[in-house]
Amino acid sequence: MQDKKLKLPSSGISIDRRNFIKWTSLATGTLLGPGVFVSCDRNSSDTVDPGREEWIIRTACPAHNCGGRCLLKVYEQNGIITRIETDDRQGDDISDPQLRACIRGRSYRKRQYHPDRLKYPLVRTGERGEAKFKRISWDEAYDLMHYKISGVIEKYGNSAIHVPYGTGSYTNTNGRWPAARLMNLLGGSLGFYNSYSWACINIATPTIFGTLETGNQRQDWMNSRYILMWGWNPAEMKDGTNSDYFIRKARDNGARIVCVDPRMSPSAVALADEWIPVRPGTDVAFMSAMAWVIINENLTDNEFIERCCSGFDKTTMPAGYENEESYRDYILGTRDGIPKTPEWAEKITAVPASTIRRIAIEYASTRPAILYQGYGMQRRAYGEQVVRAGATLAAITGNIGIPGGWASGLANQAGGGPFWTVFPSGSNPVKVSIPVFLWTEAVIRGKELGPEHGL
Ligand code: SF4
Repeated sequence: MQDKKLKLPSSGISIDRRNFIKWTSLATGTLLGPGVFVSCDRNSSDTVDPGREEWIIRTACPAHNCGGRCLLKVYEQNGIITRIETDDRQGDDISDPQLRACIRGRSYRKRQYHPDRLKYPLVRTGERGEAKFKRISWDEAYDLMHYKISGVIEKYGNSAIHVPYGTGSYTNTNGRWPAARLMNLLGGSLGFYNSYSWACINIATPTIFGTLETGNQRQDWMNSRYILMWGWNPAEMKDGTNSDYFIRKARDNGARIVCVDPRMSPSAVALADEWIPVRPGTDVAFMSAMAWVIINENLTDNEFIERCCSGFDKTTMPAGYENEESYRDYILGTRDGIPKTPEWAEKITAVPASTIRRIAIEYASTRPAILYQGYGMQRRAYGEQVVRAGATLAAITGNIGIPGGWASGLANQAGGGPFWTVFPSGSNPVKVSIPVFLWTEAVIRGKELGPEHGL
């Protein structure tokens, strides 16, 4: 294999295979800093010596990207995980609950030692898709990576390299961040924007509220009297440590829990008093019909609307837009001739009009109330509309900025610090980026893609 020299565009340094390994170590060096040092091979020559001291390493469940970081107590002996337990602190209470791991975190040892897990470098020996591989040494793997990466950069430039979002284990040290750092040190790579998880809610929320921090602290759910879990399934996907625990506590405290979801999810079964199935993708029609009922039943919070809202009716239209269609106009069908009634929504959503009417009255009159939006609804074309519809219901009922209420939208919590801190990967000298969803298109027809595709 030819030992090519790769010129680093950002520094002018030429890099040979030996230096490539050095830069790779630099990029990933802190991998060996904090964290848990354990063998990934349960059958390696490292076997547990019962005479050796057992260590308990307290760490966080890292890799499922549920939004939580539950406490894991990893028992380690001679480099082998012997078992994993979770938070068992005494004196657990709602203000400082145990950070108890779910079954995914507790079973992490099985993932670590799973026989199908890749433990050594493999190189493909057959055609793509044939699943033929052979094991190679780490030295050979470094040679091959150096040869391939330097060849691509020399021939096509750094923008022909891409580190996909969400690749690998989603942790700070094992995921895409060290790879991004390596590529940044090598002159950069094709970037991306937007996210698989929050594509629309991340954009729509600040256009409504001016901030992404629209959530109350979860302990505050104890103050709520009514919680609509809309397309949200915390019993399964968690959405952060203890979400389902806090919902259960709120229910114990007297809150009524209603789950709107096409699927009878574990949350619908385990957490909710009532499950309302809805035809997928029709949530905005359901919410609009709720608004129709709330307006016609005079259940709007007019003081809050006048004080804090813009665009609800002709008295709250922004300057310069007085003659445009207001939200109230749209819901009542003043201009398009289509009142968004429960009967109108029933044909779209498959939810009986009487159910829509009842849920609207319950939500608007059982204050304070929460309408918590899941993310599945907004992962589609026009997904921002369901975010706007949910936030508008919270606004017209005055459930924003009060204990036990909830503004909807992305619902980050103020004062909680950053969602996480990521491995420092440096800045990317390549300024071209693609929408996160289009990387497979970029592989197949990269030369054809241009600004009209969002590049
Ligand atoms: S709730 Fe999330 S962070 Fe906690 S153990 Fe489960 S997957 Fe890990």
